[in-house]
Amino acid sequence: MNATADNGGPPGAVRRERSVDVLVVGAGPAGLAAAARLAAAGAGTVEVVDREEQAGGIPRHCYHAGFGLRDLRRPMSGPAYARHWSDTAAGAGALVRTGVSVTGWAGPLTVDTTSRDGLERLTAGAVVLATGARERPRAARLVPGTRPAGVFTTGELQQAVHLHHQPVGGRAVVVGAEPVSYSAVRTLRGAGVEIAAMVTDQPRHQSSWAAGAGARLHRRVPLLTGTTVTELFGRVRLTGVALRHTDGRTVTLGCDTVVFTGDWIPEHELVRLGGITLDRGTRGPAVDTVFRTGAAGVFAVGNLLHAVEPAGTAAREGRLVAGPVLRYLSDGRWPDGQLAVEVDAPLRWVAPNRIDPRGPRPPLGRFALRTARPAGRLSALVVSQDGRVLHRERLRRGALPNRPLYVSADWIDRADPGGGPVVITGQGD
Ligand SMILES: Cc1cc2nc3c(=O)[nH]c(=O)nc-3n(C[C@H](O)[C@H](O)[C@H](O)COP(=O)(O)OP(=O)(O)OC[C@H]3O[C@@H](n4cnc5c(N)ncnc54)[C@H](O)[C@@H]3O)c2cc1C
Repeated sequence: MNATADNGGPPGAVRRERSVDVLVVGAGPAGLAAAARLAAAGAGTVEVVDREEQAGGIPRHCYHAGFGLRDLRRPMSGPAYARHWSDTAAGAGALVRTGVSVTGWAGPLTVDTTSRDGLERLTAGAVVLATGARERPRAARLVPGTRPAGVFTTGELQQAVHLHHQPVGGRAVVVGAEPVSYSAVRTLRGAGVEIAAMVTDQPRHQSSWAAGAGARLHRRVPLLTGTTVTELFGRVRLTGVALRHTDGRTVTLGCDTVVFTGDWIPEHELVRLGGITLDRGTRGPAVDTVFRTGAAGVFAVGNLLHAVEPAGTAAREGRLVAGPVLRYLSDGRWPDGQLAVEVDAPLRWVAPNRIDPRGPRPPLGRFALRTARPAGRLSALVVSQDGRVLHRERLRRGALPNRPLYVSADWIDRADPGGGPVVITGQGD
């Protein structure tokens, strides 16, 4: 182990220097699954770091069932799922370190970290970024008004209730109506909070029929569609929110709690700091079909790539990145000048978003997409390049924002490696 004084930290602080074979940043399902598979496959020293005090990522504080079915074939609560992946990674021989924040880059595969134990500079043979996504807080949504207590995202609400056992209020408004919004409803009701309303600017909720009906009928939660929160009131504690309907009607709803749900943004700070190419649509790093970013030796998996897909998808990507990482460690090859995959309105993003027509298909066999607005009459997805149609796929129902949408990857080898970008468009809207 070395130490350096020129360390990018406070004057006088010593930054220890170490090397590992693979560094995974983020110990959520994606990062832990990647570390587990890499350690089991003999990648050498595999270290996964997370800034939280406990490994497991978001599922740590999701105290509902709904995890595990996709990848582990059994229903689990979030904390049990988080423990499963944490134990699997450690059991496979990966070093799982918590309370360690990666703060920036000191070289192409060298990062700086800070923790209770001090400053470190870690150099890796390969880096896997698995930093997840977060919900946009109130400030980023530009909701005006005072700054009272009682304003949460779902993640903050669940941490307050389940990890810190804090009281959260008596009457709440939930902003959003996508799957995570219904998690917020469950958490609030479990904490004894009355729900004044769920509000969404969309014409309908964007979760499953069962979740929508359950909240409306069983939990008696009114759903206000076509409605936005335009202002927050209250000096010390929230006292109410102003709502505006698309027809111009406004109303003030009394409440002491508001939860801003969904509206995800990838946790892309390290990507930005590293000057790694960001995809315009996803706002995460641009990646090819085997999770390679624009920086040699840096891979990315999980919700950092697509905010958001279920935990099982993140964990499967974590497992699947192991092969490409091992190949890179042995041959050091990195692609140059791949084709971009883009979308046209009403589609908002596609992931992965780089391809090599002679290279592998995405291991999950598909590209994930989202639409920017409700597109009820969307009947097909068309993949084309320079005006040439490569693939057309029928849609059985239209598309809603925040609802998963996928297109098969069968067309990749029909793309011209020397051609322009591949563009995915919606037909019939
Ligand atoms: C309220 C809620 C309910 C959900 N319910 C379900 C459900 O029922 N079923 C389901 O399948 N999915 C559910 N999900 C989605 C699921 O939790 C995510 O898909 C999954 O956690 C994504 O895994 P990930 O590893 O990509 O990211 P995350 O779980 O977000 O993990 C990323 C980790 O990276 C760490 N990190 C970020 N930046 C740094 C840094 N600079 N240095 C060190 N560490 C860093 C973070 O601390 C975090 O622990 C839910 C999500 C939410 C918010």
